[in-house]
Amino acid sequence: MDTPTEVLHRVFGYDSFRAGQQEIIEHVVAGGDALVLMPTGGGKSLCYQIPALVRPGVGVVVSPLIALMQDQVDALTALGVRAGFLNSTQDFAERQQVESAFLAGELDLLYLAPERLRVEATVRLLAKGEISVFAIDEAHCVSQWGHDFRPDYLALSELRELWPEVPRIALTATATPATHAEISSRLGLDGARHFVASFDRPNIQYRIAPKSEPKRQLLEFLRTEHQGDAGIVYCMSRASVEKIAAFLVDNGVDAVPYHAGLDSRTRAAHQAQFLREEGLVVVATIAFGMGIDKPDVRFVAHLDLPKSVEGYYQETGRAGRDGLPATAWMAYGLQDVVQQRKLLTEGDEAHRRRQALHLDAMLALCETVGCRRVMLLDYFGQQGSEPCGNCDTCQAPPESWDGTVPAQKVLSAVLRLKRERRQKFGVGQIVDILLGKQTAKVLQHGHESLTVFGVGTELGNAEWHGVVRQLLAQGLLAVEADYGALVLTDASGDVLRGQRQVPLRRDAPRPLRAKTAAAAKSRPAAELPQEAAPVFERLRAWRAATAKEQGVPAYVIFHDSTLREIATLAPSTLEELATVNGVGENKLAKYGEQVLEALTA
Ligand code: ADP
Ligand code: ZN
Repeated sequence: MDTPTEVLHRVFGYDSFRAGQQEIIEHVVAGGDALVLMPTGGGKSLCYQIPALVRPGVGVVVSPLIALMQDQVDALTALGVRAGFLNSTQDFAERQQVESAFLAGELDLLYLAPERLRVEATVRLLAKGEISVFAIDEAHCVSQWGHDFRPDYLALSELRELWPEVPRIALTATATPATHAEISSRLGLDGARHFVASFDRPNIQYRIAPKSEPKRQLLEFLRTEHQGDAGIVYCMSRASVEKIAAFLVDNGVDAVPYHAGLDSRTRAAHQAQFLREEGLVVVATIAFGMGIDKPDVRFVAHLDLPKSVEGYYQETGRAGRDGLPATAWMAYGLQDVVQQRKLLTEGDEAHRRRQALHLDAMLALCETVGCRRVMLLDYFGQQGSEPCGNCDTCQAPPESWDGTVPAQKVLSAVLRLKRERRQKFGVGQIVDILLGKQTAKVLQHGHESLTVFGVGTELGNAEWHGVVRQLLAQGLLAVEADYGALVLTDASGDVLRGQRQVPLRRDAPRPLRAKTAAAAKSRPAAELPQEAAPVFERLRAWRAATAKEQGVPAYVIFHDSTLREIATLAPSTLEELATVNGVGENKLAKYGEQVLEALTA
């Protein structure tokens, strides 16, 4: 029997385990149950794939992501692992083939859609074979109210009664302790050991830029830092997804839209295109991305504010799974705060309060003058980390200034307007009044006679918008549901009476651009020694041709990181090639000669 480390080297071709993997794998190999919490891209799959290969029998993987099962099986097949799946997309003959392979002991891993296990025939089938481990992927599905897969996941608690001897490992990237506890009780995993991996994704650079002209900013970000890279752009609404995708295409970017309003064929086609092609940008609502394990997503951009830090981290976590530099970039501005605060007026009281807490945490991340990563890790329970040096606030620390007086001016303008008239006004009117602008709307309402008229000429229009945004973010101002009018909050009075200071963040005058060095670093071909760059391109061309021939995504052949290492090392023998991270036994046998040939071409 191979040890986990031997399997890691031989099958996967990796040098070493990532943080947490070894402990988890050894625990499961020894027959223990486990509940694993690891960030997106942290390397969860190995945690059940290796036990499945080390223990006798077939590893059964329950996953809701049936659209991705084929790719998962293809990737395992390329490694020489015998894998199959059973789900509703198959016809009878296909299913039978997998079932007989299972019964003949010819599978190492079997992927199942969760509803399969509620079918008596599947349970009978499984009972006839030997099972090495049950892996329950995306385990948070069991705890989320209204989740499509919840009923199927709840039924998984029976696994313990049916197969008391078989270890079970539940995996998720969703971090809250409540979710954790619920997974554990719903799946009957009371005796399971809990593993919580570090949430840090050091290769991802987090940046949040002040939003001015989002479309232009996005385009500039793509052109200067991620030309030709694969990435995801998240927008809140279907309409903006369509608009941004069309805008990118008009500007020469290879982009496709993805949202729940598109028919399922188009959605599946765009997803497949993203997985298979290189350098495609998907503009999407949050409907896109769950379970997609494309390793070479080089950036995730947000044009609208996510509703929670959990969501933000899950979405940005889809970048840079291969460990190479990647960017999480967001444009964030006043309208985001207004819009999200307005949405908070929906639903019942408890729901609203929960949403408000989520939003507050997200806004605090946006407005921080400290390291973004420190704040993120802190949020996920990892206190006390050092500033990272690889986020926008570390690279260009924003100033913090005492905004108490400007805050008082804004708040008293809001107060005056409320006293003077029943009517409600939005941000634009407040700022015009403070700046002393005699606009038609100001004159029409006689606002030029207010005592606050023209008291704010020390700041410009954009700066005042920044002040209002931060007051909203800090809960010193609120937005009314109907018209988006600004109103005071319980906390506003303390500021007006001078009993509370208001520290503010000074926004960068221009959208921050990454330093050129950092920008260059994120190009896959960059950082390579000069003579290796053309070799890397040659290898990529070989990989593209091979992937096309086999009908699999390019990364199933080799990851970018592996090709880079090969290009740099320039091995001349198979033994040398075998030392490269990501070159396992099977791939060496299958592609070794071709790679050496491509190197000498
Ligand atoms: P998760 O499911 O946690 O989001 P994956 O299991 O998809 O993450 O792993 C993310 C990427 O990291 C994959 O491309 C995988 O091949 C790679 N990976 C995982 N473990 C290792 C390791 N020990 N060494 C090198 N690469 C690894
Ligand atoms: Zn930092």
